[in-house]
Amino acid sequence: MTPLLSVRNLSKMYGSRIGCTDVNFDLYPGEVLGIVGESGSGKSTLLNCMAGHLEPTTGQVMFDTRTDGLQDTLAMSEAQRRMLSRTDWAFVHQHARDGLRMSVSAGGNVGERLMAVGARNYADIRSNAITWLDRVEINADRIDDRPSAFSGGMQQRLQIARNLVTNPRLVFMDEPTGGLDVSVQARLLDLLRNLVRDLGLSAIIVTHDLAVVRLLADRLMVMKGGHVVENGLTDQVLDDPQHAYTQLLVSSVLQV
Ligand code: ADP
Ligand code: MG
Repeated sequence: MTPLLSVRNLSKMYGSRIGCTDVNFDLYPGEVLGIVGESGSGKSTLLNCMAGHLEPTTGQVMFDTRTDGLQDTLAMSEAQRRMLSRTDWAFVHQHARDGLRMSVSAGGNVGERLMAVGARNYADIRSNAITWLDRVEINADRIDDRPSAFSGGMQQRLQIARNLVTNPRLVFMDEPTGGLDVSVQARLLDLLRNLVRDLGLSAIIVTHDLAVVRLLADRLMVMKGGHVVENGLTDQVLDDPQHAYTQLLVSSVLQV
């Protein structure tokens, strides 16, 4: 089987400071990979390099595109990569305001993504938007409201709808439940788990919260100081961690 994403020797330096270094892995269709580690371990740097938001210092990111098969994403033009971000990729930011257009209605936020991939029929776009609002548990009567009128959890659910409506092949998520109250996190996590299962999503989820990966991720990568220190099936890594750092992480000695 062709991997959906293939990362080789990926490193990102910020001057002399390590962002992430020598990362290697393959992600297969339908897999969810969790990336965990304490703050500053390089999770966001790695995610942003893979998603085309940051230029890696060295390495390769190959992606199995819908239209042209396996492509070196770093060799693509800016325009090609932007197209990929609208079609095959989705990116859920920790803060909904970074992933939403706050001055556009909820329905507009979802519909805009459909229009970006060529949808033109207004009635179809609106009915698809309503379907997706419902999927993320936002009442259809809120469709014309702006996200600024929504609670934090609702904004995050809207961001997820906006990202999934185009049926992306790969979803990147950076701390999707971070920055929310604990009770709101639980509901969002439950929703994400159902979406991952029902849609068979392929996703890479960065989080410092082991409960998130326990529920969502098939596989785990543990990062420390920019390095991947452990890599394996989620249950294996969490139940029988091999690396001393992972053992600390799992035993909650580390406050991450
Ligand atoms: P995480 O997401 O795990 O908290 P980051 O990827 O944000 O970690 O950061 C990894 C390392 O890179 C940290 O040492 C951080 O200080 C550094 N770093 C991140 N972004 C920048 C930047 N724009 N300029 C310089 N150093 C950065
Ligand atoms: Mg981060």
